[in-house]
Amino acid sequence: MTPANQLPANQPPAIEVSDVVVRYGEVVALDGVSLSVASGRVTGLVGMNGSGKSTLFKAIMGTVRPDTGTVLIDGTAPVAARKQGLVGYVPQSEDVDWAFPVSVRDVVMMGRYGRQGLTRRARHVDHAAVAEALERVELTGYADRQIGQLSGGQRKRAFVARGIAQDARILLLDEPFAGVDKRSEATIVRLLRELADDGRTVLVSTHDLHALPRLADEAVLLLHRVLFHGGVAEALRPDNLAHAFGLDVLDRDLDRGSDRDRDRDFDREGSA
Ligand code: ADP
Ligand code: MG
Repeated sequence: MTPANQLPANQPPAIEVSDVVVRYGEVVALDGVSLSVASGRVTGLVGMNGSGKSTLFKAIMGTVRPDTGTVLIDGTAPVAARKQGLVGYVPQSEDVDWAFPVSVRDVVMMGRYGRQGLTRRARHVDHAAVAEALERVELTGYADRQIGQLSGGQRKRAFVARGIAQDARILLLDEPFAGVDKRSEATIVRLLRELADDGRTVLVSTHDLHALPRLADEAVLLLHRVLFHGGVAEALRPDNLAHAFGLDVLDRDLDRGSDRDRDRDFDREGSA
């Protein structure tokens, strides 16, 4: 295994994010993010709510356009890479309309659209790929259910199956463990490890720090910018986590013993 941060020579990073800034009006979601994500590894993206994880995924997908900075996927611009089917995406639950009238099989078949041309007529090879992907996520018996009728963990597995059916070289998963049962979590972790061992690039955001050592080869701590990128054990050190989760401000003020300063910092955070 290559040490974190050191890419094998002659292998370009699968995802190259350079100095990306994304603003939503007054809010600066990403404030100069630079990040290289290597293939053949699982990279964990860790950060508190609002730290910019989903925005970073959307910038990599090309669905959010950076104000400044660039993203390259295997050397290609994000929108083109997405159209080529290079990037598979498992959105966070909040970004999906679960009432949409599609079956689990339909969701997985969406991973094949890029290969079906304008007619979107599924051929035998597409049906076979969908069946195999459903098998791998252990949802074969649920293929005809409406997607919203599944449990949280099953829904996530359905979207992972979409990425598998797509045969995407790069997989982005936004909080796949949120609201997920242990069995689904274990299945997803195992699949992501298999996909990385197969040479794919897996970037997965999570605030489930317990899952991180089993899941990821390396970790990125995000708070509007990259605070840390390296080995998982080092990422999980209390000083690094405190920084990423915004606790160091509080610690400093407690050390100083100044309740007034601390309250002021809380107020400022609360009104941000
Ligand atoms: P995370 O996924 O880490 O929770 P997000 O990328 O969703 O972070 O959000 C980063 C910041 O951008 C937050 O302050 C959030 O409120 C804001 N934000 C995200 N999406 C939008 C949007 N569509 N419009 C306005 N603000 C947004
Ligand atoms: Mg998010």
